Amino acid sequence: MISIGHELRDFEKVQFGEKFCPWMIQARYFDGKWHPSALIRTSEINLSPAAKGLHYGLEIFEGMRAFRTPQGPVLFRPHLHFLRMSQSAEALGMTPYPEKDFLAALKELVRHCAEFLPSYPGSLYLRPFMMGTSSKLGVGVSDEILFLILATPFGVADLSKRSSEPKTATAWISPELVRAAPGGTGNLKVAGNYAASLRAIVQARKNRYDHALFLDAIEHRWIEEYSGMNFLCVDSGVLRTPPLTGTILPGITRNSLLHLAREESIRVDETRISVDELCEGLVSGRITEVLACGTGSAVLCISELGYREKRYCVGDGTPGPIARLLYRALEEVQFGKRAPRNVPGEPEETARWLIRCESAQ
Ligand code: PMP
Repeated sequence: MISIGHELRDFEKVQFGEKFCPWMIQARYFDGKWHPSALIRTSEINLSPAAKGLHYGLEIFEGMRAFRTPQGPVLFRPHLHFLRMSQSAEALGMTPYPEKDFLAALKELVRHCAEFLPSYPGSLYLRPFMMGTSSKLGVGVSDEILFLILATPFGVADLSKRSSEPKTATAWISPELVRAAPGGTGNLKVAGNYAASLRAIVQARKNRYDHALFLDAIEHRWIEEYSGMNFLCVDSGVLRTPPLTGTILPGITRNSLLHLAREESIRVDETRISVDELCEGLVSGRITEVLACGTGSAVLCISELGYREKRYCVGDGTPGPIARLLYRALEEVQFGKRAPRNVPGEPEETARWLIRCESAQ
C-alpha cells in the first residue's frame, strides 16, 4: 500500500522514498494521443493484470529535484530530464509526453506540495514515470500509456549529516556481472536496466560493500557506472569520467559537475578508464579521489573498492578536495546562491538550469 502522510511535514522523521505527498499528477495516452493531465490525490492505481508494463517491462522513469531558493521553489534542469525521458519513451515505442505539459505538470505539483518541500539542505524529489497499460499479452508496443509524477521529501531524515559534505560509500567491482551491453538500453532510464543490475548489487552487499561498480559487457575491463550513479575519479589532478558511448546513462549531475569543474579551471577528461588502471592508480597514489554522482546524493565519495579478492583504499577514506568543491558548487547553484556561467560549445544555456515553479510559463 502506498503510504501518504501529513506527518511528512515532520521532516526529520521521513526516510526517502517511503512516504509520498498527498498529490500526484496523472495523464493517459489512448486513441493515439495524450489527454490532459490532472492533479489528483495520491492513491493506489488500477491496472489490468494483463498490462504490458507488468509483463514486458514497458516502464521508464526520471528522478529529479525541486529546491527552495530566495526566488521561490525551482526545478533543476527539467529540460534535460524531459529530453532523457522522451528518449527512453521512444526507445520503448511510447509517445513522449509533450514538453510544455511536462513542465507545467511538474510546476503545478511542486506548487501544490510546497508545504512538503523542506528548506536547505532538503529538497523535493520528483519521480515522473510512464507505463504501457494496454491489456494484451504478447511482446509489442502499448497503445495505452499511463504517466504519473510522484513527489516525496528528500534529504530529510539525515538533514544534520548533510551539512555541505558529500557522503562516502564502498564499491565492489564484479568481474562478470554486467548492467548494460552495446546496442541495449544502458543509456536510457528504462526500468529493466535496474532489474538487470540487481544481481550485482545483491552480490556486492553479500561481500559487504555498499554497491556495485559495473564494467563493460564485452571486455569486462572498462569502468562504466556505480550502481545508479555516474563514475568519476581524480587522476593527477584531472577529473576523469568514462565517455557516453551508449551503455552509460547520460547523468544530468555528471553534466552539471563537468560544467562546474571547467568553471573552476579543473581539467576534465572524458576517456575510458580501465579497471587495472584504476587499481594501479590507487596503489601508486596517482588517483586521489573516486566519486559517483547522481540526482539523489549529488556527489558520493567512494572510500574503498573491492576487485578480485583485493581491497583498494581511496586516500584516507574521507571526501577529497575536488569532491567537496564540486558538491558545494552544485549545492550553491541548486539553492540559487550561485549562477552557473555559459560555456561555449555546451548545448544547454545555463539560464535554463533553474526553472521557477511559481510562474506557469
Ligand atoms: N546512472 C544511472 C544508472 C542512474 O540511474 C542515474 C540516476 N539515478 C545516474 C547515472 C545519474 O543520473 P542523474 O545525474 O541524471 O540523476
